[in-house]
Formats: sequence, structure tokens, C-alpha cells
Amino acid sequence: MRKTLIAGNWKLNKGPKESVKLVRSIGMGLHGVDGCEVLVCPPYVSLPAVNEIINGFPIALGAQNCADHCDGAYTGEISAEMLSEVGCKYVIVAHSERREHYQETDASFIDKINLVHAAGMRAIFCYGEKIEDRRAGRAEEIVRTQLQAVLPQLDSFTPENTVLAYEPVWAIGTGETATPEMAQDIHNLSRNLVAGMFDSNIAEATRILYGGSMKPSNAKELIACADIDGGLVGGASLDSDNFLGIIKAAL
Ligand code: PEP
Repeated sequence: MRKTLIAGNWKLNKGPKESVKLVRSIGMGLHGVDGCEVLVCPPYVSLPAVNEIINGFPIALGAQNCADHCDGAYTGEISAEMLSEVGCKYVIVAHSERREHYQETDASFIDKINLVHAAGMRAIFCYGEKIEDRRAGRAEEIVRTQLQAVLPQLDSFTPENTVLAYEPVWAIGTGETATPEMAQDIHNLSRNLVAGMFDSNIAEATRILYGGSMKPSNAKELIACADIDGGLVGGASLDSDNFLGIIKAAL
């Protein structure tokens, strides 16, 4: 039985003061809510402050990225070990914004995920096609290529140490959402690919999140799909009512 996970990716929003306000408001709204794992991923500088607040709430802490090295002369980078030290349990890797704006590569995703695992955390590995790929009928091919380029190369892949997040790039921050049918097709394909790369027990237990303009009004239909195990939420996670609305829709 896969536990639903609703994860908020706050991106470049919410410094420490605003992060504390937001997470407190989410935490209060979770009173009596059970059956769904909740994760927030604030910017690096807000992690320690948010970690203090979530102590009393059923909320886990995650980071949006990490370095692909463990230490050394890499100015501006933050290691997986450091993130674990400030309370992170998850790290998002390979978000499409990292792929596009920072030209991150499959080789660096492999290194990052291995370092996240070595630090005792879970990786959320993002993948998904661009609009031109979907229009050209190449969505499945892109998803297959992105998953196969990384997952079999990892030192370890288990349903406990890795969560997958299918995020069609054309749906991220655009207000345009994949239909539940479109999303379910890719999630089902992803699960079959995981079964082929590892085995069917691993595939059955692996959580696959959907991300791309998820909101309270569409979350229920998406998460009701057989192979969709929760959401990676950007814009709607910046407002506690919207984020709580998604969590409640997922229950
Ligand atoms: C994301 O950034 O992972 C995301 C899904 O963003 P949004 O929900 O805003 O589309």
C-alpha cells in the first residue's frame, strides 16, 4: 500500500519569516488530518526556521536541490549531508527548472541522488516531456529515456529511498494541467518501466507523484488515478488554504 505524499515546492519564494508563517498555517490546518504524508520544500535559508516549527506538526522537511559533490571548492553549493543536518528528509532532484536554467545533466542527477541516499534521505526524482515532445507524440519516449538514463545507474533504488515525480514541463506554472487520463497513462508507463529495470514488487511499492498546476479543484481526480500517488505542488503550495485544499482532496 503506497502512502499518498503531497509535497510543496516553494521555489524561490518565502524567506525565513514568511516560511515560518506559511508552515505554521499549514500545520494548524492539518489538525485531525490523517492518512497522507505532507512535505514542504522551502528555500535553503528557511530550512532551519521551518524545521523548528514543524516539530509539533505532521510535516516533513525537504530541500529543492543539493550539490553533486559532498564537499570541497564548490562556491555557493549545499551538500546533501548539510541538508540532513538541518532536518531534511527529502531532496528534490532534476526539477525541470534545474534541467533548463542550470543545464543539469543525467550524470549530475545520478551523483546527487546517490549523495541524498548516502545522507539517509529520500530523493524525489523529477522527469517529464516538453510541449513540443507531446505535440510530436514523443512524450512516452522522453519519459522512458529520462528514467532509464538515471534509475538503473544509481547505487541503490528502493521504494523507500526514491520517489518519482512526473511533471510535464508544459503544465508547470502554466495553469494547464494534464488530464487524469494523460497523467495516468504516463504514470502507468513509468511503473512498468520501473518493473522492467528492477522488479514488479519494487514497481508496485514505488510512489509516483504528479506535478503541474495541481490545485484543490483538480487534485482529487488526478490522485484518484490508480498509479498517481500524490502531488508535487508549486504555486498552490504557497498559500495554506490551497495547499490544505489539495491535501484534503487527496484523502
Ligand atoms: C513544480 O514546480 O514542481 C510545479 C508542479 O509547479 P506548479 O504546481 O506551479 O505547476
